[in-house]
Amino acid sequence: MCAAYSDSSPSAAVTWGRYSDMRPCEIDAVLARSPIAYVPWGALEWHSAHAPIGLDSTKAEGICWELAKRTGGVVLPAIPLAANTIKPFKGFPHSIDISAGLITNLAEEICLQLAEEGFTLVVLFTGHYPPEQIDALEAGAARARAQAAGTAFKVCADNHFLEGGDFSADHAGAYETSYQMYFQPGSVKVSDLPERALTLDEDGITGEDPREASEERGAKQLEILLQNAVPAIAVWSKEINAKR
Ligand SMILES: [Zn+2]
Repeated sequence: MCAAYSDSSPSAAVTWGRYSDMRPCEIDAVLARSPIAYVPWGALEWHSAHAPIGLDSTKAEGICWELAKRTGGVVLPAIPLAANTIKPFKGFPHSIDISAGLITNLAEEICLQLAEEGFTLVVLFTGHYPPEQIDALEAGAARARAQAAGTAFKVCADNHFLEGGDFSADHAGAYETSYQMYFQPGSVKVSDLPERALTLDEDGITGEDPREASEERGAKQLEILLQNAVPAIAVWSKEINAKR
């Protein structure tokens, strides 16, 4: 018997999990209740002097865990492969830039594998959101749609769910830095930033000054995102279940 069900309390049933940490019976339990797979998509990319290069992965993965807690489902490990990073854009180092074609192929294969595993909704959730990245993921999802009609494949990013918040998305500014502080406390060091106004060309930063960031702000941003994203995901689940 699956250990997930050995507890007499029904609330002990597994409703979500980190895919790579789950035993088969736990995955089966999630599949039976909410066959949703979240694929957090990140980057290894310069996020200025104060923040880790894995910020987009940390942000996307953390958000997907919170989504899965509310909708059910599994969360794959973040894929840190990004097209059009700030390296070709502005020449910043410590960035691994990946071709859009490879990202499309990988997205297609992961989508198809998850459909074969029984997931009916696959959400490719990217924390790195220039149009080239979104387009590459969309192209992979479109190919998967043509081959696996019983599963819905959706591409989205954290900046798609800002409605109702008094903040805008950025690159390494107060918005992204607040998420980094929230999901990985202690990982940001604003004292490593130069003592002057920060710019895209000199620092690789857009949006509000990251010195305005805080863990509390990260929590607020997440609350707004969940308010917008959870109902959208519920609609996607309903649509595909009605079609099947
Ligand atoms: Zn970022």
